[in-house]
Amino acid sequence: MGTDLILVRFGELSTKGKNIKDFIKKLGADIKEKLKSFSTLSYRIEHDHIYIELHEEKYEDVSKRLLDVPGIGSFSFVKRVPEDIEEIINEVLRSCKNNSAKTFKIITKRIDKLFPYHSDEVNRMIAEKVLKNTIMSVDVHNPELPIHIMIRPGNCYIYSSSQKGLGGYPVGIAGKSLMLLSGGIDSPVAAFNMIKRGVRLECIHFSSPPYTSSNVITKIRDILHVLNKYQTSIKLYIVPFTEFQEEIYKYADTSYAITIMRRMMLRISEAIARHHNCLVLSSGESVGQVASQTLKSIAAIEECSNMPIIRPLATVDKVDIINEAKKIGTYDISIRPFEDCCTIFEVKNPTTCPHLDKIKEIESHFDYQKYVVDCIANIKYEYITLDNSDEEF
Ligand code: ATP
Ligand code: MG
Repeated sequence: MGTDLILVRFGELSTKGKNIKDFIKKLGADIKEKLKSFSTLSYRIEHDHIYIELHEEKYEDVSKRLLDVPGIGSFSFVKRVPEDIEEIINEVLRSCKNNSAKTFKIITKRIDKLFPYHSDEVNRMIAEKVLKNTIMSVDVHNPELPIHIMIRPGNCYIYSSSQKGLGGYPVGIAGKSLMLLSGGIDSPVAAFNMIKRGVRLECIHFSSPPYTSSNVITKIRDILHVLNKYQTSIKLYIVPFTEFQEEIYKYADTSYAITIMRRMMLRISEAIARHHNCLVLSSGESVGQVASQTLKSIAAIEECSNMPIIRPLATVDKVDIINEAKKIGTYDISIRPFEDCCTIFEVKNPTTCPHLDKIKEIESHFDYQKYVVDCIANIKYEYITLDNSDEEF
């Protein structure tokens, strides 16, 4: 009887050439961390796959958690048998007899070129036995039960289906970014996409009490707890933004207030990012979605910053962003009705076409640098981790 394993494949990782060793090591460590509560599992990490031996654990329980690990391309429940044609045939027969499918197809991949039979011969030998011993028939185009046979030196792996993983890269392999996180729908989705792409995130949130209630911070924490599923510890900086925001609204024409406020957010974020070795900023902006996200606004706002800004949702439609938010579980938290610091001051006709001359003129009227420094000096931070979450992942 074969041994039960999960075979993990590395999506895009396999294109990473020389660095692949580090990638696989990190992915192996992430998988072990994710599955640490299953104490009997054992692991073998190879250059193109990771094998997880299930022992007493159930595939359904373990595989559910693998779905949340960035860097996994796909995975399968597999039976391992010794590299021997009789053993392979017996195992295939056993699984066919336990299956209600009416049609099958054998698909052999002979990686061990020393195995005495070619792939086609193996396909034929096994198919003959299945036809003789079961009521199944062969369907080469659309089999109900595809049976994959992977022959490697020493062992053979038999499986029928694969589950798609998250894809992307193991967390942190691409470096660190500071994410501007509001309580809205978009930035949590953007954050998820950054993490999935191998970026370790730190998050910054601009808070304006008492205009915004402490519920907004609770909301941010809850969102980050959901993202803890993918990155187990996330540092959150909370910037006390009230005074600065009030000052901005004293000097800025109402149509320019948001533009100026965004520039100030960027200045503070960039300083924090540099101080904490984040290479880029990221945000949930999407081209054209609101006045501050027209190309002219984006250009005018970004002008004050010297750090690249990644916008994973730049070209994604709102309906697709909403669907992704629902899928990852941040949507219900994002739509809780608490005000954001951007919505507390009523802004009439925010400009969609800000002019740099006017921006510079407004900014010359007050000592914004003092407020930038104050905000940075009074910033608070905390770590949002799986351990302080009530939920079991
Ligand atoms: P979101 O749904 O993420 O709030 P949005 O469509 O509401 O985005 P804006 O409110 O204009 O758009 O915000 C654009 C981006 O600016 C956000 O995605 C986020 O990255 C950043 N941002 C906005 N408000 C804050 C805030 N209070 N703290 C930190 N970042 C913010
Ligand atoms: Mg918003």
